[in-house]
Amino acid sequence: MSKKEMLKLALDLNQFIDASKTPSHCVAEVEKKLIANGFSRLYETDSWKLKKGDKFYVIKHESALIAGICGKKSPKDSGFRIIGSHTDSPSFKLKPKAVFTKDGYIQLTTEVYGGPIFPSWVDRELSLAGKVVVKKGKTYEIRLVDMEKPILLIPQLAIHYNRDVNESFKLNPQEHLVPVVGLTDKSVNDEFIIEMIAGKLKIKTSDILNYDLELYPYQKGEICGIGNEFIMNRGLDNKAMVHASLEAFLEAEPSDATLVIALYDNEEVGSSTTNGGKSSFSEDFLERLVNFSREDLLRSVARSYYISADGAHAFHPNYAGKFDSMNKVYMNKGPVIKINANTNYATTAESSAVFEMICNERKIPYQKFVNRADVRGGGTIGSMIASNLGVRTVDVGNAMLAMHSARETSGVEDHFWMKEALKGFLEY
Ligand code: ZN
Repeated sequence: MSKKEMLKLALDLNQFIDASKTPSHCVAEVEKKLIANGFSRLYETDSWKLKKGDKFYVIKHESALIAGICGKKSPKDSGFRIIGSHTDSPSFKLKPKAVFTKDGYIQLTTEVYGGPIFPSWVDRELSLAGKVVVKKGKTYEIRLVDMEKPILLIPQLAIHYNRDVNESFKLNPQEHLVPVVGLTDKSVNDEFIIEMIAGKLKIKTSDILNYDLELYPYQKGEICGIGNEFIMNRGLDNKAMVHASLEAFLEAEPSDATLVIALYDNEEVGSSTTNGGKSSFSEDFLERLVNFSREDLLRSVARSYYISADGAHAFHPNYAGKFDSMNKVYMNKGPVIKINANTNYATTAESSAVFEMICNERKIPYQKFVNRADVRGGGTIGSMIASNLGVRTVDVGNAMLAMHSARETSGVEDHFWMKEALKGFLEY
């Protein structure tokens, strides 16, 4: 495998993430690629009539998407091969009453979404994007908006007023992380946001019924390192796995099995939403693929495999003590199989063996990760899916640094290896 090919895929990933400002924008990017590759959109409100080889997708509430390719055989005879990932990343969401002025500064109040690393969000160019509910006759439509400009910042206090900033200072999200959006001599309220959205969407302010906006770091992705080792961008957790699964899915050879990629929202806040990993979205989708035959669904699932693809923690040289000395993983050493005795990860000996077999056959390097016995670690959608669907599931991901930072780091080579491994899984 040439380094050039690996770099090309990493650059494509950065472009994809740069365009994926919010979960809904991420789904819109995926949709563009699916349409360009001959997929057609199905709607939950319609009756689906599918046949062998059909390529299709469904979007749930803008920010989640499941796509499928019907296998050459019926799912009850050859099962599903499903890869799941998530479209959301930690962020800050605008509160309903957000805009106020303070001594000439226009500021916005926000609520924390998920678990961002606060110091990574300060002193950098930020922007706003999200969904807007727009009046359409007697009903409404939902449109995406992106301000596409660095319009916000969260400035730190000068060290001269905060001498202990490097020792013990804590950023309080309500007090210290209030973004500044401009300067004014007038009093300003939420009309300011409504006018901004209306201007961007070229609609009347009176047509805006509601909106849901979040902050995003404006800086674009870069390849970094003396030997181009690293990918740096926001939201690598988990848009990198969305991208890897999508690319694998588009490249995979037609199979006996029905191939599925599932991109959920709200993993960072527990997945209990209409289109999160805990929702009925996956099961409803699969049930339609077997024409609502409960028996066929159960037979299909019993023949199926599921990969939950999400970030993994690379060994950090400056914090060596945080890692289990025997089970640490590194960037550019291949996909990571994540294991946890308390089932925070869904990996079992069997599901891991299947993934390892695929990697061995295709000469793809892989690694295994376990936390220190005194560290709880994070969870993924893997265990929710495994327990709800009863499908054999393996949790995998690529080793990364600074997970949940506004600027995360992962390995250029790993992205390629992960795409190859996921493709191998879909063709298994
Ligand atoms: Zn994640």
